[in-house]
Amino acid sequence: MDFSFTEEQLMLQDVARRIAQEKIAPSAEHHDRTGEFPLENIRLLGENGLMGIEVPEAYGGAGMDPIAYVLAMVEVAAGDAAHSTIMSVNNSLFCNGILTHGSEAQKQKYVRAIAEGEAIGAFALTEPQSGSDATAMRCRAVKQADGTYVINGKKSWITSGPVAKYIVLFAMTDPEQGARGITAFMIDTDKAGFHRGKTEPKLGIRASATCEIEFQEYVADADDVLGKEGEGFKIAMGVLDAGRIGIASQAIGIARAAYEATIAYVKDRKAFGAAIGTFQMTQAKIADMKCKLDAALLLTLRAAWVKGQGKRFSNEAAIAKLTASEAAMWITHQAVQIHGGMGYSKEMPLERYFRDAKITEIYEGTSEIQRLVIARNETGLR
Ligand SMILES: Cc1cc2nc3c(=O)[nH]c(=O)nc-3n(C[C@H](O)[C@H](O)[C@H](O)COP(=O)(O)OP(=O)(O)OC[C@H]3O[C@@H](n4cnc5c(N)ncnc54)[C@H](O)[C@@H]3O)c2cc1C
Repeated sequence: MDFSFTEEQLMLQDVARRIAQEKIAPSAEHHDRTGEFPLENIRLLGENGLMGIEVPEAYGGAGMDPIAYVLAMVEVAAGDAAHSTIMSVNNSLFCNGILTHGSEAQKQKYVRAIAEGEAIGAFALTEPQSGSDATAMRCRAVKQADGTYVINGKKSWITSGPVAKYIVLFAMTDPEQGARGITAFMIDTDKAGFHRGKTEPKLGIRASATCEIEFQEYVADADDVLGKEGEGFKIAMGVLDAGRIGIASQAIGIARAAYEATIAYVKDRKAFGAAIGTFQMTQAKIADMKCKLDAALLLTLRAAWVKGQGKRFSNEAAIAKLTASEAAMWITHQAVQIHGGMGYSKEMPLERYFRDAKITEIYEGTSEIQRLVIARNETGLR
């Protein structure tokens, strides 16, 4: 076992850290307060290979491995979680699925634009009445005699929905087949029949724009199908496995930022004539924060390593996401507590880290769904 990173992985980490510290972190409070979409920074991340980290260079990406992806995501999330949400959707949910299941023409058309940061991608699975249970979706794609599909229906909570140029959409082509009746489509949001709803006001990751989208008689061509008809559910679940490594990395970045701020604060802040970091109750919290942070990072790197080996990594990704997201929630909670009144104040970023951390326990499969995935993998029971 080798715990060292390659030169390329460290170089990408450095690039991500530099952009995160110089450009992203300084504007994080502004983006959180205004909810303004950070288009300029997203373009910069794209120009530096961070919007298509695992995308081969032939399609405009950085051609790196999943471990490099984890390292870069952690840095960007430590700068600002909302930026890392946009980055994770572009990398994991958009590019990854097309690279695995797309035709050569789809890879050239859709992956390059997103990987180079020229356009924003989105992934549309959730609907107003179906989240964890994606097979209950109602969005319908009806095949016509000429081979095209007419799509009608709503999708909710679509990250980057307000700004996306292209979307990977999941729609029911054969409702009688249940999960096997779902098909994935490539959507161009400039085409007729595509509509965006209002941007959702949210607790955290406020600069990551989220909205409902609607399809009214949208016509998709036969070659807009991603993979084969009926393979959509399998594609979505595979893409979400990869996405969970990204969300685990995001959680680690948020938690690390809260942890580092806490280490600085406990040395500086005094009570009863001593630095608060000398109190054993504070020390116990620091030790537990560090253990959870390291455990989350190691489990996430393990999941990335298994993925990089080309092996099945569903269980490892669920374990990483569950551990990292619950660690982030706990660590940011303790960080607010250790900062006392200042932890609750908008003058410091602790309350933002706390609000941002919560989403990692919800999207791309809630903590309950991760536990279900892990227990099913471990027991073989359904
Ligand atoms: C900010 C944000 C961004 C998002 N971005 C996207 C996106 O880009 N694309 C997209 O498609 N979706 C997106 N989502 C949707 C997200 O993936 C869902 O919200 C999530 O999967 C949960 O679905 P739900 O909200 O419908 O909750 P529900 O599925 O209704 O779950 C409600 C509660 O019941 C629990 N529960 C459900 N089933 C079980 C079970 N079998 N056992 C135990 N407990 C269970 C859940 O864990 C949860 O606590 C986003 C959501 C948010 C909040």
